[in-house]
Amino acid sequence: MSGKVVVLLGPPGVGKGTQGVRLSRDRSWAHVSTGDLLRAARKAGTELGRRARAYMDRGRLVPDDVIVGLVREHLRTLPAEQGVVFDGFPRTVVQAEALEAVLTDAGRQVDRVVLLDADAELLVKRIAGRRSSPNGRVYNVYFDPPKAEGVCDETGEPLVHRPDDLPATVRARLDVYHEVTAPLVGFYEGRGVLTRVNGEGEMTEIQQAIAGAVGLSQAVAGSPVLA
Ligand code: AMP
Repeated sequence: MSGKVVVLLGPPGVGKGTQGVRLSRDRSWAHVSTGDLLRAARKAGTELGRRARAYMDRGRLVPDDVIVGLVREHLRTLPAEQGVVFDGFPRTVVQAEALEAVLTDAGRQVDRVVLLDADAELLVKRIAGRRSSPNGRVYNVYFDPPKAEGVCDETGEPLVHRPDDLPATVRARLDVYHEVTAPLVGFYEGRGVLTRVNGEGEMTEIQQAIAGAVGLSQAVAGSPVLA
């Protein structure tokens, strides 16, 4: 039997990464974040990493053919019975159609798309406030600051502000989301697989709402599932 395929959709900063890790970790599913794959390629200095850099640092999308090739290759490395959580992919209708084609070839389909959403001002604070430690720990100067400014609590190393997390780039990324990614809401609604979850609530509550959506169970009263 093939594993479930879940897409986490939503604007930058809404918590797709955090929730993607939680959802996949609890079930030993693969967490496929195209942003993470691109950052790894940049770090490794590959041709793909070099091509992606200029787009990423300006908050623009990397071209569809590059991303689709990357995802197709990555999916080949995963066993068919393993569930997959996509985070940050697809981001355009072209990517969504390509994903459908790749999955159909493998006898699979997108089982559920969870749309996480939150107020734009909160998103800007969440992203522009983000600081990363070289050990992977992520802080937020507004919501989860380190004990000493600019320094990792665990390693004492200086924290890094990702170039694509700078305020001007954040605004560009939000614009791109509204222009080219938001149409995916209608695309997946039309396929009857979309569930909306409020991304402003408490982390564990959101996690439960997503788990409920993925299990295709009904939302319980008072949970952040909207529809
Ligand atoms: P993320 O960490 O998902 O916010 O991605 C960081 C950056 O990587 C984005 O702003 C884009 O430049 C690029 N990127 C990630 N995923 C995609 C995608 N599916 N399509 C195009 N560009 C992407």
